[in-house]
Amino acid sequence: MLTATASPTILSREPRPRALETWICRAACRALPTELFFPAGELDDQAVEQAEEAKAVCAACPVRVACLEFAIATNQPYGIWGGVSTSERRSIRRRRQADRRRQAS
Ligand code: SF4
Repeated sequence: MLTATASPTILSREPRPRALETWICRAACRALPTELFFPAGELDDQAVEQAEEAKAVCAACPVRVACLEFAIATNQPYGIWGGVSTSERRSIRRRRQADRRRQAS
């Protein structure tokens, strides 16, 4: 149960549509600092280390797939969602678009 003192990481992210409420309460990050999942930049050592730490939390999260699909569907521009970085989500989106184009032709 979330409390007033908890810092529910994913709950602080916007937008927060109703569909998010169905899985958010099981998020492994819900009491962790939001900043952990938003490393500043992707290239410096500290950002890489922070991203790896966030990804380790995601790896054990029971709602990882729902989280990732939400981030892709809502085109989240920043952060680690479902254990996947912004650039990794862009790659997934490109692969899926290419697959759809192939299937349509
Ligand atoms: S997959 Fe990661 S970012 Fe998503 S809810 Fe779980 S712990 Fe949080």
